[in-house]
Amino acid sequence: MPKIIQAEDPATGEVVRSYKMATDEEISNRFERSREAFVKWKNTPVERRCRYLGNMREKIVDDLHNIVEVIKRDTGKPDTEALMTDIFGTLNFIKYYEKNSKKILKREKRKTSLEFYKNTAYVEFQPLGVVAVISPWNYPFQLSLVPAVTALAAGNTVILKPSEITPITGEKIKSITAKAGLPKGVFQVIQGDGEVGQKIIENEPDKLFFTGGTETGKKVMKKAAEHLIPVELELGGKDPMIVFEDAELERAAKGAVYGSFTNAGQMCVSVERLYIEKNVQKSFVSRLKDEVHKVKVGNHEEAEMGPMIHEGQIDTVEEHIDDAVKKGAVLLTEFEKDDMYLYPQILVNVDHGMKVMKEETFGPVLPVMSFQGEGEAVKLANDSDYGLNSSVWTEDKKKAERVAARLETGNCYINDVVKNIGDPHLPFGGVKNSGIGHYHGPEGLRSFTEPKSVMINKNKGAEINWFPYTEEMYQDIKDLTLVKHGGSGPFKKIKKLIKLWRKM
Ligand code: NDP
Repeated sequence: MPKIIQAEDPATGEVVRSYKMATDEEISNRFERSREAFVKWKNTPVERRCRYLGNMREKIVDDLHNIVEVIKRDTGKPDTEALMTDIFGTLNFIKYYEKNSKKILKREKRKTSLEFYKNTAYVEFQPLGVVAVISPWNYPFQLSLVPAVTALAAGNTVILKPSEITPITGEKIKSITAKAGLPKGVFQVIQGDGEVGQKIIENEPDKLFFTGGTETGKKVMKKAAEHLIPVELELGGKDPMIVFEDAELERAAKGAVYGSFTNAGQMCVSVERLYIEKNVQKSFVSRLKDEVHKVKVGNHEEAEMGPMIHEGQIDTVEEHIDDAVKKGAVLLTEFEKDDMYLYPQILVNVDHGMKVMKEETFGPVLPVMSFQGEGEAVKLANDSDYGLNSSVWTEDKKKAERVAARLETGNCYINDVVKNIGDPHLPFGGVKNSGIGHYHGPEGLRSFTEPKSVMINKNKGAEINWFPYTEEMYQDIKDLTLVKHGGSGPFKKIKKLIKLWRKM
């Protein structure tokens, strides 16, 4: 008997739909279909593949309102949040790869070394095969489709497993790709839970693209290692925001509140730690309080913050706040909870002995700590197991760039938060416990390919490095070594080189 996924509306707790989870047999059938489809898809010219991407973009635009509704059903997030981050963001990425894939995947001529005289070389970016995308529930549309379309543009076929918490969005994605006319088997959706995720890995995709929590990421990588499957892991974060006293403080306070509470803090790149320069701490915290009180929470048209998407996350938020308060932190806002809705919280008097400064909270909590000087700011920000995004706020451009260079994070935004993840031109990925690999930008497209190098030798007759090994050959190689890596002066080098060239 197949297991059932029940899709609950987090705003009301009502079960709105149910889906059958894929059985083991269905999963292997999907893989078989995907491998068959790959044979044609990889040979489909990139321009044609991009036209399918264009069709997908059109279908999404035609269906904007319904997609917003679907995402809302699954996550409870406000319409604007669903439209801006999940849908608009995804469309930008699709358009970027429609426009740029041909150029990025174009065969590249490469130089060859001296000893390869009379050789030419090029690199071709070939698709890998079947790419499995396992995605989370916080941005179920974007975090499923962006890696999927990138893999498709590169010539791979894709199997997507959305989170069991957001299956309706998974079904919607399936219907969009079908309406876009993608050939059979090129893109498939498998509904299921973590166990289904493990089965997917056992079916040996040619690459696994995983977005989710760090602990799950480790399990995924362990399983993938059994089959030597390359993995890309986009994992959790504990992003620091550093505000220097010379920053535009009003803008920084508004930015902090947005960066920390958008999507109710359930965002991998949300601001999870704020460091404010001591001299302006008091006035800045007061600005933060003013801004936080303006955030509208609830399930109504004007809401800016929706519910927590799944219950387990509320426990983590409460645990982090309790731990901090027990250790001396002060809540500047009254802790309010209304079923699945948490209200934004600011914590002061925090230190790095508290969970809220060490572990990913993934909820609407902003802990604020002060620092003195650039050195301490960098030290505090880097004192973390995570390294996803960060932000630096100052009017001093040189200082900002100096600090950005020293931060141990995959990405950094100067004088803004969060949105840098949404620019398709830039690679995105985490360091430390925040992940392995990069997607987005040209690097992201190429990460779904195998760079195959091809060399062509135009020489006739035997090569000087082939058998037989003779005394003369030894001398030639010695000369070549000295010419390339040291030894005699330029005149002697040129003489030796000419002698060698004649033999090549
Ligand atoms: P999880 O790690 O719980 O789940 C992610 C996906 O993995 C889901 O589809 C889940 O299925 C599946 N899964 C669970 N267990 C396994 C397993 N053993 N093998 C294979 N797949 C499995 O993450 P969440 O969904 O809770 O997402 C939140 C996390 O994602 C946060 O830590 C957040 O920081 C991170 N994240 C990172 C981003 C980045 O770009 N770096 C972006 C967004 C989120 P199911 O849900 O059905 O159990």
